[in-house]
Amino acid sequence: MPTVTFHGACGVVTGSSTHLDWGERKVLIDCGLYQGGEELELRNWDAFPYRPSELTAVVATHAHLDHTGLLPRLAAEGFSGPILCTKASRGLISLVLQDAGELQEEEARYARQKGYSRHANPRPLYTADDARRALKRLQPIPFDEERELFPGVRLRFVRAGHLLGAASVEVSGKGADGERRTWCFSGDVGRYGVPILKDPEPPRDPPSALLLESTYGDRRHSEGDAAEALGRIIHETFGRGGMVIVPAFALGRTQEVLFHLSALADAGRLDPAAVFLDSPMAVNATDIYQRAEAEHDEDFAALTNDPLAAGRFVRVRTVEQSKVLNTRSQPAVIVASSGMANGGRVVHHLLHRLGDSRSSVVFVGYQASGTRGRALVDGAETIGIHGHTVWVKAKIHQLNGLSAHADRDELLRWCRALPAPPQRVFLNHGEDPARKALAAAIADELGWPRPRLPLSGESEPW
Ligand SMILES: [Zn+2]
Repeated sequence: MPTVTFHGACGVVTGSSTHLDWGERKVLIDCGLYQGGEELELRNWDAFPYRPSELTAVVATHAHLDHTGLLPRLAAEGFSGPILCTKASRGLISLVLQDAGELQEEEARYARQKGYSRHANPRPLYTADDARRALKRLQPIPFDEERELFPGVRLRFVRAGHLLGAASVEVSGKGADGERRTWCFSGDVGRYGVPILKDPEPPRDPPSALLLESTYGDRRHSEGDAAEALGRIIHETFGRGGMVIVPAFALGRTQEVLFHLSALADAGRLDPAAVFLDSPMAVNATDIYQRAEAEHDEDFAALTNDPLAAGRFVRVRTVEQSKVLNTRSQPAVIVASSGMANGGRVVHHLLHRLGDSRSSVVFVGYQASGTRGRALVDGAETIGIHGHTVWVKAKIHQLNGLSAHADRDELLRWCRALPAPPQRVFLNHGEDPARKALAAAIADELGWPRPRLPLSGESEPW
């Protein structure tokens, strides 16, 4: 019997993965890494609950690691089919997976040197070679074009906003009763009316079943202008002689933050020479964003000063250049990854600036439970960094209006734009309070069948 099995991102916001099974043929939608805390990340080592070599294809909704980060392991363990993604996703997926492979190797090497691993000989989750093996399998498909996945099953990508190349996926195939049905997998849904990328677009076919993300299912992003709030924080922090640290995901959040910083610079409220983009990956991703003209929205196309251009802000590439920023005394804005402050260069900046009451830290994305970012926005008085206990004196801000994810009302708006209500709805990619709240809103406000909240490993007939 054709079935859908929910594997990852059930009750959490990472590890996205859903398995479609037609007996002879099996397909995976996303193969994401679990992120946020040791306990969760241990799941990345679990045996796959299917045989990678038996998968006909993998569909990648977008480049974020929580949707693609286990693809190298899948390739290392025998997957040899195509990885279907949008054309616009291809460059970003190549960037993140290559980087992820190198990082895994580096971490294993570091653990071996410092001897902090429980294993005598710590090995990487996968290697840069595994990542390259996965990248060879990428097969880009344009948005809006229906393609045959294999005989009898078709697929289409539609724009989801959220990130360059991000897609919702429609898969249509026959169930056990011979009826053709379409399942829609929302992927991560972006916000409406935000700069740079086109807005989320509705899927084309009336879906029989919908698997919808629910990251912010229990929240409304504040109505206030997030860009204006960012400007105010920078002004106040600079007035105190402090630094503004912006932990930002290299893909997506960084580019949107640069857009708003650029507007402040154009208005004469910020010197572009005081803005540092401290992340080689973000620099490369920014170039990919700049080149993807077909995906730019009208606001972006109309700009005279391109916020993503190489010359607009200071780009920090080497570790030495990054370290110089630690001793800088004049105010500056430092945009560095990772977005949840769990790794990356931003951790060093936090180590140096969190204890300084003149400085500010501005979070612009979702802070998953178990991360340093979550602890900081929850008001932690101290934070552990590299074996040091750091007192938090800097001012901590969270600007949800700059999030990459639709809020509760925007998710409902996305649902209303579907060509017809689905008969079955499932929610994933959200912590349980968010899933429950969104399920209630979908049932009460849209009058749809009450969404189900699948546990990892649960299956549903096609
Ligand atoms: Zn995402």
